[in-house]
Amino acid sequence: MVALTGAGVSAESGVPTFRGEDGLWKNYRAEEIATPEAFASNPKLVWEWYNWRRDLIGSCQPNPAHHALAKLHDAPFGFTLVTQNVDGLHAKAGSMDVLEVHGCLWRIRCDSCGHIERNEIVPLPEPPLCGCGSPLRPDVVWFGEQLDPVLLSSITEALSRADVMIVAGTSSVVYPAASFADYASRAGAKIIEINLDPTPLTSRADLSLQGRAGDILPSIVEALL
Ligand code: NAD
Ligand code: ZN
Repeated sequence: MVALTGAGVSAESGVPTFRGEDGLWKNYRAEEIATPEAFASNPKLVWEWYNWRRDLIGSCQPNPAHHALAKLHDAPFGFTLVTQNVDGLHAKAGSMDVLEVHGCLWRIRCDSCGHIERNEIVPLPEPPLCGCGSPLRPDVVWFGEQLDPVLLSSITEALSRADVMIVAGTSSVVYPAASFADYASRAGAKIIEINLDPTPLTSRADLSLQGRAGDILPSIVEALL
C-alpha cells in the first residue's frame, strides 16, 4: 500500500492549505512567494512568509489522520508513505521513512556551498546567512523547481509495486505529485481518494470517499489492522 497525503491532511491540525479560503498571506498567493525568482529578488519577503509559517506550524500537533497512517508501519503488508506536506507532522506522529516530495520546512540549506541543516529556530533573520555569506533557504521544492530524482525513483518504485493507493487531502493539481495516482493505477493499483470535495482525480479513482481525512483514515486503518 502507498498513501499520498496533501495539505488537507494537515488542515485539521490547523495548518492552512494553499487553495482553501485561508490560503492567502498578506494578499500574496503561494505561487508568488514560493519560487526561486521571488527568493532571488526579495529574500526578505520570502523569509517573512516562512517565519510566519514556521511559527504557525511549530505549534501544530498531528491529528487522527497522521496517527492512523503512523500505525500502518506495523501492517503485515508493505506500506510507503509519500507526502507533499513540508510541515513534518507525519514524522511528529511517529511515521518513519516518510518520502517528503516537497522537502521539509524544518531544514534549511545553502545553494552556493551545499550546506544543509535541521533548524527549528523561529523566527530566523530575514534572510538567515550561511557561513559562506550566501542567504540560506528552506529545503523545500518551490514552484518551478524539479523534484529530487533519487526520491522520485523511490516513489515510482513503491507506486509500481502497490496494490492499493490512498490519496488523501490533496487537490491533485500540483504536478508531478498529481500524476502519481495515474502511475500507480496503470501499474495495477486500486485508487482510493479521500477529500472534502471532488478533485480532478475523483472521476478516475476506484473509490472516492468524501469527508475529513481525520475521520476516514482512522476507520480504514482500524479495519486493516
Ligand atoms: P492544496 O492546498 O492544493 O489542497 C488541499 C486539498 O485538501 C483540497 O482538495 C481540499 O479539498 C482538501 N481538504 C481540506 N481539508 C481536508 C480534510 N480535513 N480532509 C480531507 N481533505 C481535505 O494542497 P496540496 O494538494 O497538498 O498541494 C499544495 C502544495 O502546497 C503541496 O505540494 C505542498 O507542498 C504545499 N503545502 C503544504 C502544506 C503543509 O505542509 N501542510 C500546506 C499548504 C501547502
Ligand atoms: Zn553556504
